[in-house]
Amino acid sequence: MSVQVVATKMAEVDLKDVPSSKDLPAGSPVSPASDVKNIAKNEASSSVSTSPTAESSSAKAGEGALNPNPGKMPQASAMKRTDPQQNGGEAFVNRDGTVAEAPRMKKIQFADQKQEFNKRPSKIGRRSLSRSISQSSTDSYSSAASYTDSSDDETSPRDKQQKNSKGNGDFCIKNIKQAEFGRREIEIAEQEMPALMALRKRAQGEKPLAGAKVVGCTHITAQTAVLMETLSALGAQCRWAACNIYSTQNEVAAALAEGGFSVFAWKGESEDDFWWCIDRCVNVEGWQPNMILDDGGDLTHWIYKKYPNMFKKIKGIVEESVTGVHRLYQLSKAGKLCVPAMNVNDSVTKQKFDNLYCCRESILDGLKRTTDVMFGGKQVVVCGYGEVGKGCCAALKAMGSIVYVTEIDPICALQACMDGFRLVKLNEVIRQVDIVITCTGNKNVVVRENLDRMKNGCIVCNMGHSNTEIDVASLRTPELTWERVRSQVDHVIWPDGKRIVLLAEGRLLNLSCSTVPTFVLSITATTQALALIELYNAPEGRYKQDVYLLPKKMDEYVASLHLPTFDAHLTELSDEQAKYLGLNKNGPFKPNYYRY
Ligand code: NAD
Repeated sequence: MSVQVVATKMAEVDLKDVPSSKDLPAGSPVSPASDVKNIAKNEASSSVSTSPTAESSSAKAGEGALNPNPGKMPQASAMKRTDPQQNGGEAFVNRDGTVAEAPRMKKIQFADQKQEFNKRPSKIGRRSLSRSISQSSTDSYSSAASYTDSSDDETSPRDKQQKNSKGNGDFCIKNIKQAEFGRREIEIAEQEMPALMALRKRAQGEKPLAGAKVVGCTHITAQTAVLMETLSALGAQCRWAACNIYSTQNEVAAALAEGGFSVFAWKGESEDDFWWCIDRCVNVEGWQPNMILDDGGDLTHWIYKKYPNMFKKIKGIVEESVTGVHRLYQLSKAGKLCVPAMNVNDSVTKQKFDNLYCCRESILDGLKRTTDVMFGGKQVVVCGYGEVGKGCCAALKAMGSIVYVTEIDPICALQACMDGFRLVKLNEVIRQVDIVITCTGNKNVVVRENLDRMKNGCIVCNMGHSNTEIDVASLRTPELTWERVRSQVDHVIWPDGKRIVLLAEGRLLNLSCSTVPTFVLSITATTQALALIELYNAPEGRYKQDVYLLPKKMDEYVASLHLPTFDAHLTELSDEQAKYLGLNKNGPFKPNYYRY
């Protein structure tokens, strides 16, 4: 089966605010168009150890290899690191959104045994398949929620023969007729994804991904569509499946299929559909991927299990999620990783924006949409004052809430005090607070004893890890009544009539009940695009069969591509200052251990 990928016309977006290189002051880290490809031409640089001293000296040593020309694209000097993931527990979420008895798992589960697909399975047949896909493929992510009603047509996309207006049928989506609506969604997303639009503009004539055959497995949303169309504009061919059975925006998938992309995804896939779609992306006559872009590790795993020979041609894996990165580190540790991989999840810009800024915005959105609560004067306790906790506290304080913080770490605790929050133990305030929010990455932070002592109407939610932070299982006892009052909102009622308001059954509030700002996704998508360019163009030997962090200079470059949105004017180092600080004028500006 041949694949036809049509580079779709760039939407008419006003890019006047995105400076071209000639508009930029000398020394600006934003590179001219021709430099997009320069990533490929960078000198090989060695891995950097994670010890602060070693990093510091390596960073300095690396400067010599950095291109000193002002305005040049960042150079590669990727950093290796060990697995940051601590034995995080996973829990299963049923198709209806309820939480099943959650076995503690140390690694993600995959459908290793499943190779044969139902040719034309009945809907019931598909649904009866046992849970076998990773947590990330079921965690709801409602910023990605489709506006179109997927229930209007019960026919499975696998049972339909569809073609786009050019006669191409190499895709499987819900309904190609929704393409026009999807195109509008993509154009809206483009407005908030300035860096990708700038990359497209700067890469006109330059095709740093020419010849790249990217197989992707991510949320299929308007933001991903902007990424895919950018990759295409940079020269890549793409085939794509969804990393989440709920999150596909059907109309966006339709717009992509209409634009010539081979997309295999729809909202509400069964497990069997999920793997079938991934298989359709890779198991195709006359086309073999040479790059993987994964979110959750399912696609990578599938290729490892079913088509290991494909890795002979694959130049690298770019992985976006905590879970997928964890899996890659496991492979690396076992000596089974056979290509270089880039850990996008732990890049500074992604961490900062996803954790701090994204949560600062989405905590209010999630609470408001589900409960219509007024924040002014409400007493809130936030458990954990890391990045996520800081974001939540800042937003609530700004709305006039009285915010208490719990912490185990004296440094973060002192930060909370200095920021004007009362540091307490949970049981000191549990009787009086109106809202409880967990942000610790830990388990059993709010337990039955705490829940028993909460006052009537207390709202309980989680912004931290999976569904482990609140002991929801302890509420599933005969004396308590559960009442579903809205989607994602349960009243849990005690025998004396007291009720608490539990949101998203203890799963991540913002991913389940609100949207994630497109601008945040823009940062991640840009990081993914640059990681693909880097791995695809890296000369032999620069990257070994290991997991790397995005080079610091590229992290800085991602940030710099987003600055024009704010008409932000970056100060340049003078030669004298650069010498004084021992820095290259074009960065990197911080050692790898810098904490921001
Ligand atoms: P972090 O490590 O910076 O912060 C967590 C804080 O919780 C730490 O300061 C830690 O000392 C504290 N803590 C741990 N156990 C505690 C306890 N029992 N009581 C009180 N405090 C405790 O991590 P982070 O970046 O803030 O992320 C926190 C969690 O949120 C992670 O699981 C992360 O995966 C998740 N996360 C969620 C979103 C989202 O969109 N909701 C985004 C990013 C990250």
